[in-house]
Parts: sequence; structure tokens; C-alpha cells
Amino acid sequence: MKIKLAHPFTSLRKSYFRWRYWHCIYKNMVMYTEKETEKRKKEELIPYINKPGIAFSFDDSYRVKDWTVFGKELFGYYDVKVTFNINGIHPFEERRKHTQNEIDMLIELQSNGHEIAHHGFNHRKATTYSREFGIDKWLEDEVESLFHWMKDQMHSTTKERFRKPVTFAFPNFMYAKKHVNALVPSYFKLVRGHLENDNLCNFNSSGLTPSISLDGYYSCNLFYLKKIMKFAKKSGKNIMFTCHSILPEEVKWDKFGWGETAAKSGKWRISPRVLKTIIKEAKKNDLEFYTASEIAGIANFIDVNFEKAVRELLPDPNKKWIEISELLEIKKLNLFDKNISNLDGVQYFLNLEEINIEKNQISDLRLLMQLPKLKKIMTVQNVGTSKKLQKRNLGLLSQLLFLVLIRLVCIWEYSL
Ligand SMILES: [Zn+2]
Repeated sequence: MKIKLAHPFTSLRKSYFRWRYWHCIYKNMVMYTEKETEKRKKEELIPYINKPGIAFSFDDSYRVKDWTVFGKELFGYYDVKVTFNINGIHPFEERRKHTQNEIDMLIELQSNGHEIAHHGFNHRKATTYSREFGIDKWLEDEVESLFHWMKDQMHSTTKERFRKPVTFAFPNFMYAKKHVNALVPSYFKLVRGHLENDNLCNFNSSGLTPSISLDGYYSCNLFYLKKIMKFAKKSGKNIMFTCHSILPEEVKWDKFGWGETAAKSGKWRISPRVLKTIIKEAKKNDLEFYTASEIAGIANFIDVNFEKAVRELLPDPNKKWIEISELLEIKKLNLFDKNISNLDGVQYFLNLEEINIEKNQISDLRLLMQLPKLKKIMTVQNVGTSKKLQKRNLGLLSQLLFLVLIRLVCIWEYSL
């Protein structure tokens, strides 16, 4: 007779390992940073510079439909900004390239304030691929090929393109020091790894940056998550969370029909319910939400003409990446007649008092709401009398009135 005793022990063993994983993360955080934390003085907290936050980092772009269906609304418009690390192919549909519909979904996520970052064209493991073919071939096939592919893509209706990635996430957390050295700074400012020392990320991070996996075998532990978020706030550093699919608990992985080979990948998922709890807890602790690029201290722009105009204001316009700290020094921004259609990137000008956006094709001013010191907006659009232009100017005027109204309500609420 066969007696099934294995199940309770297996699940007990699993629970123990999960508990140990989270306990060690917290223990290391405390051990590595407690003394520094004690020394911290009370200082003014400035987003991107020293205000602690969390960075969600989602992997594998064949999951883009889940990200869109269950994540887009949950994250909102420039509210909870996250990073989506993409590939060029679908691993379970004969390694086909992304469809235009998938590209549109990815670019729409970018338009909502998220970062689209690099996760290797074919999702090859850096260690095994470079052992077999050499590191140069790995760079060519996995890194450069995705840059080329991204450059050629465009949204089917908005014609918006991908921003050039400044961060990379190693597939399967497989890497060695030589891979990091090959990528930074030649290709990226930051590369995401796995657990490392205190498991926290400094501001303006360069090179290998630790992350904590929330899904898959590590399974979220809300008790420790709350503890580590509180600790990050106290320590003045950031946490990067690695995740994969966003799927409610009741959605069965089998429904996608990718068969046995995809079974393991189905374990890497987090539910919108758990994500909501983490976001709520982060907001309760007054933590910011950052993209990996922002953790690296880098400002990225969707509109190339806007980026060009900003570069002209910097002491070195040709530098590889624009640092957010440089933009915080700018109080006046004259974008008159620069052929700009998208203001993404303006959110980094936190000390901006005056902006001139006359004679451009900007139709969305919502990001200006994020600038606490902005007092003056010059916004008469293209000079002309066509009905289309008149309609757009009326639209902008109503947006501006709405923004002023919201600002007044905020001031009134604070004064109570
Ligand atoms: Zn991956």
C-alpha cells in the first residue's frame, strides 16, 4: 500500500524556504545599512534625488497583453511608473517577432510614463550564450540587434517610437562580472541583477543594481514586504522589484495554449490584487514610484525635438545621457517654435517656474500639473486660423483652466 506523506512535508519545506528567502533579504538590509541609517539627518526629500521609492521591473514582452489588460489602468498615467523589459521575439510561438499590435501596446505603455528597457533580443542567458559563441557575438545578437529592431518600430496610428533604452535586465538573472563590464557604460547606465549586499538601490545608480524577485518560486511575502518598504524609507534608498506577468489568481496559464515548454514560465506571475496592496503600502509610506532609468538618474524623452531643445541648455549638449539633477536647476524653459508634439520629460523640471510652448504641436498638457513651482505657461499654439488649430487652441485653453482649478483646490486643501 502506498501512503502519501510527501505532500504536507513538501509544502512545509516550500513555506520554510520562502520564509527564509524573505527573512534573509530583510536581515541583509538591516545588517548592511543600519549604521548609515542612524547617521542620516532630517533633510528635504526631493524626488529622483533623495526621496526613497520603489521600482517595479517587469520582464518578457510576450506578456505584453497581460501588462496592458491588468496593469495599464492599475498604474495610471504617470502615477505608478514602472519598467517593462522587452525582447524582440515570442519564445512560445515559434520565436516569431512581435506583431504590430504588440508593438502598439508597448508604445502605449511608454506613453503612460513607463520605461521600455532592454531584456535581450532572443532572451538568451548571457552566461551560456557567451560561453558558446564569445562575448562579442552575445553583444551583437542579443544587445545590438534589439537596439536596431526598436529603432525601426513605430506605433501604427500615433507614429510614436521607442525611446532608446538606458537600462538592461539580465534574462534569468544569469550574468558574471565580465557581462556587466561589457554593457556598462558602452550600452547602458544601469543593469539589473538579483540579490546583492543590502538589496537596495542608491540614487544615480551605475552598473549592476540589485533587485528582489516578487513572483515565481519566491512568492510575495506581504509581512516582509511591508517591513522592507519601511526600512527603505528609513535608509533613504530605493527598492527594485522584479516581476513578470500580471494575472489574477483565477486565470489559468494553460489557457494560452503554449504547452509543456511554457509551463515553468507560467509560475512567474503576480496578481493585480497583490500589486494593489504593495502600491497602497508604498503610498502609505510616502514612497515614490521610479523607473529603472530614473533610479540611474537619467532623464529620457519621447520627442527627439524636445530632447534636442533641452540638450542646447546643458553645458555639454553632446553627453551620452541627460542627468535628472541637471534639469532640476532649470527655472525657465523656452520651447518656442521647436516642432515639439510630446512633453514627456518635462516632469523632471521640478523647479521650473516658466515655460513657453508657443508654436508647437502639443495637445496634452497634463504633465505640467506635476511641476509644483510652475507659475507661467505661454501656450498660444501655431499661428494660423484654420478650424483645426482653433479647435486645438480651445482644447488647450480648457486643459489649462482645468489645471489652474485643480491647483487652486490643492492649495485650498493644504491651507485647511
Ligand atoms: Zn526574462
